[in-house]
Amino acid sequence: MKVLLIEDEKNIASFIEKSLEASGHQVVTAFDGETGLEILAAAEFDAIILDVILPKHNGWEVCQQVRQRLQRDTPILMLSAMNHTNHIIKGLDSGADDYLAKPFKMNELQARLQALARRYRRQTVAASMLKYNGLEVNMEAKEVWRDGRKIKLTIREFKLLECLIRNPGKALSRHELLEKVWGLDFDTGTNVVDVYVNYLRNKVDKGYPTKLIHTVYGMGYILKENDDASE
Ligand code: CA
Repeated sequence: MKVLLIEDEKNIASFIEKSLEASGHQVVTAFDGETGLEILAAAEFDAIILDVILPKHNGWEVCQQVRQRLQRDTPILMLSAMNHTNHIIKGLDSGADDYLAKPFKMNELQARLQALARRYRRQTVAASMLKYNGLEVNMEAKEVWRDGRKIKLTIREFKLLECLIRNPGKALSRHELLEKVWGLDFDTGTNVVDVYVNYLRNKVDKGYPTKLIHTVYGMGYILKENDDASE
């Protein structure tokens, strides 16, 4: 896996880096918080190993920025010599997933890192399956199934369905759909949304007793189960 290591003590950093690389991992090292955040803003990692006492943003600040400013949920393993309960709590509160006290055994660090990455991968897979009432959208495989039957969609139809299934029960305006699916943030007066919703209905709803895609008159479309006040 690809690991970002943020650690200012060069000998510790080089020890961790060498051990992880020997186990087949790819490691990028930053020696201060600011550099770590810059690297993270530009690339994706499978896990972050983060020291607490660092120059230019300590570990807690880095953690908070990763979660809040960068909006990343990459697993973070915090390292610190300060093995006090309140420091551990502070680390976890700032968004760290696990905490390891220095000095640590390299095999323990590796085991914890693997466990974090595994958990994260499972969550990501779960988040990539969107389900609604027998309808399933697999964001990874880009596949759509309804009641166990595979439905073939074009890229545009897929994006349109993704938009609807991410907002079940919420009416989406034509303007909103144009923006999200076609990337147009102005009203072109086009009826392309209606045309594509029609294509989608023919593939997703046609032949099924329960219709899922409904018209909201004068507004747009909604994904829902019952068809009161629409159609
Ligand atoms: Ca340090």
